[in-house]
Amino acid sequence: MINELIKNNVVLGDGGYLIELERRGYVDSGSGREKVGTGRGSGQFTPEVAVENPDALHELHREFLHAGSRVLQALTFFGTREKLNRAGYGAETEAINSAAVRIAKEVAGDKALVAGSVSRTQLIEREGMESLPKARDHIAEQIRLLKGAGVDFLILETFFHLAEMKAALECATAVGLPAVATISFRPMITSCTDGHSPEECARVMQDCGAIAVGANCEQEPSRMLALLRMMRKGTSLPLAAQPAAFRTTDRCECFTRQPAFPDDLETIQVSRKEFFDFGQAAKNEGIGFVGGCCGCNPAYIRALARGLSES
Ligand SMILES: [Zn+2]
Repeated sequence: MINELIKNNVVLGDGGYLIELERRGYVDSGSGREKVGTGRGSGQFTPEVAVENPDALHELHREFLHAGSRVLQALTFFGTREKLNRAGYGAETEAINSAAVRIAKEVAGDKALVAGSVSRTQLIEREGMESLPKARDHIAEQIRLLKGAGVDFLILETFFHLAEMKAALECATAVGLPAVATISFRPMITSCTDGHSPEECARVMQDCGAIAVGANCEQEPSRMLALLRMMRKGTSLPLAAQPAAFRTTDRCECFTRQPAFPDDLETIQVSRKEFFDFGQAAKNEGIGFVGGCCGCNPAYIRALARGLSES
C-alpha cells in the first residue's frame, strides 16, 4: 500500500520526535555527562519515553496527525538491543519497541500508516567494520519485533555507513517489509562515512530493494535539496527526504558537528518557511516521501503540508 501511495503522490510523513521530546523534557540527550555527537556515548537520545511517558509520545503523534502527516513513525529510533543496552534499557527492548508501535497505531487509526523507524546501531563507529555481522543481528532482531508489532512498513534512517544500510535493507527484505531508505551524510554531503557518493548510495539502496531512497537528518532543506539532486542521478525510484531544521555551513554540512549541538541548537534553528518552500519544490524534484527530522515539530510539518498543497 505504501508503494502505491508513494508512486502516485507526495506522501507527507512526520518528525522529528527525539529532539522535540528532549525539548519537552522526556528524552535524555546525555548532555552534561558525556560528549554527545561522537557516537561513543551511552544513553543519549534513546526511545524509552514509549514506556516511561507514553502520554507525551501519544500527544506528539496526535499533533503530527493534526498537522497533516499521513505516515506516523513509531518512536523506535535507536531501538536496537545494542543501543538500548548501553543506555541501560536492553532488557526492555521488546517492551519499548512494541509500546512505541502500539501508541502510534492507536493515534493513526485509519487516518495514517505506521512506519517502524530503524537506525544504525553505532557499533560500526565504536568497533569498526568488523562488527557489521553483529550490527546486522541486532537490526534483524529489531525488524522482527517491529513486524510482530504490526508496522505497515519501515523507514531506515540516520545510517552513516552504506554497508550498514545494505545490511538493514537485507533484513527488511528477509521479513517482507517494504522499506524507505534514507542515509545521513556527515560531515559533508559529498560522501557518506564509508566513502560512497550520494549517487552511488542511491543506486545501491535501490538495488537492495528499497521502495524510495534519499536522505534524512543533518542538513536543512536547502542543502539537502542539493544532496537529493546528486542522488537523483543514481536512481529511478521516488526520493525520500527528512531534512533537519538546523542551519549548517559550507565547512561542516551537518548539524551534529556544529558547536551548537546539543544545548545551543536554538541559535541555528531555521524557520518553518524553509519547509514550506521545500514542500513546494517536492513534486518537481521527484520527491515521493517528505517529512522532517531533528528540529522539526508539528508547525514545520504543517508548513510542509501547506507547501505541498500550494505547489
Ligand atoms: Zn534527525
